Amino acid sequence: MRLAQRMDRLGTETAFDCLCRARALECRMDVVHLEIGEPDFDTPKHIVEAAKQALDQGYTHYGPSAGLPELRAAIAEYAGKLRGLKFRDEQIVVTPGGKPVMSFAIMALVEEGDEVIYPNPGFPIYESMIEYMGGRAVPIHLREERGFRLDAEELASLVTPRTKLIIINSPANPTGGVLTKEDLRLICDVALQNDVWVLSDEIYAEIIYDAKFESIAQFPELYTRLIILDGFSKTFAMTGWRIGYGIMPKGLADKLARIQTNTNSCTATFTQRACLQALQGPHEPVDRMVAEFKRRRDFIVEGLNQVPGVRCQQPAGAFYVFPGVQATGYDCKVLADRLLEEEGVACLAGTCFGKYGDGYLRFSYANSVENIAKALERFKKLLSRR
Ligand code: PLP
Repeated sequence: MRLAQRMDRLGTETAFDCLCRARALECRMDVVHLEIGEPDFDTPKHIVEAAKQALDQGYTHYGPSAGLPELRAAIAEYAGKLRGLKFRDEQIVVTPGGKPVMSFAIMALVEEGDEVIYPNPGFPIYESMIEYMGGRAVPIHLREERGFRLDAEELASLVTPRTKLIIINSPANPTGGVLTKEDLRLICDVALQNDVWVLSDEIYAEIIYDAKFESIAQFPELYTRLIILDGFSKTFAMTGWRIGYGIMPKGLADKLARIQTNTNSCTATFTQRACLQALQGPHEPVDRMVAEFKRRRDFIVEGLNQVPGVRCQQPAGAFYVFPGVQATGYDCKVLADRLLEEEGVACLAGTCFGKYGDGYLRFSYANSVENIAKALERFKKLLSRR
């Protein structure tokens, strides 16, 4: 098969592969799923009902590429309130999931050989999409001793005349790290001084525990070169619905809408109508989910720190922990494989999130406390066999 060369540069998200392996193993053993990054809660009932109603009302046709006007307006209002700001409807582009905002923004901004600085360990699709589009992916090392927060001085040292875009993510996948207002101020300064775009992935904005969520959008001087990525997948437990959005300058929003006309045409219209309910209906289901995540975070962090050779920070956001496992003596990939194959605990090696993830594991705690307890026991059992 002769394919385009760029296909050799396309990476993947190993969580999906791991889920497949774990499901295949399930026919012969009990598996605790701590690998996949999605809430284990059902989508709140009122959102599901709104989707059913929308189908009955005939929302089964194409819609505008940028999104239904009523949803763009509701997003501008909701996303603005969350960040203490005002956005305009024309800045919003509704997409099938948050992921397309990433790839479409890179498509629109990055030329062959342009450099893009991205967090590492970080969401693997950043590196994959940068390389695929012909950019040069420049990792910035997120260090455990900084609570996995990006160091702005290090960021400044990575900028060159070819740097086009900086990607940040807070709260972060896979570390749960959260950037402070001061961090964001410094990142903003680096972007302004070097005339670089910023893509701020804020998909976990509402899944935050001890810290206040801070968005880099609070600095208006960045507005002409800022893209915010957010969506419904995590906050409203709607991963399978495939809907998210970007907030950006109107000129770029128009271009992203055009990319959608060329690719997916638009986001499903009945889904968009359901999302109106997500934004305007009761918020308690989200609050309850986040409270439960916090309880599980406390439980898993305490449990992991009791496993010999494992060291785990308490993350302030998202629903992941990223413990260091160097002291177990295992390579992290070997440890993740043995945990799955011998003990039925599915988790990911830190290297699934880039080279600087070496020595770590990622556990998603989107699972019950009972199952997390079971996984911790099995983890101890595996290590005791050594
Ligand atoms: N950004 C980050 C950091 C994520 O972890 C994910 C999903 O895991 C996404 C974006 C994509 O979200 P969506 O499912 O809405 O495409």
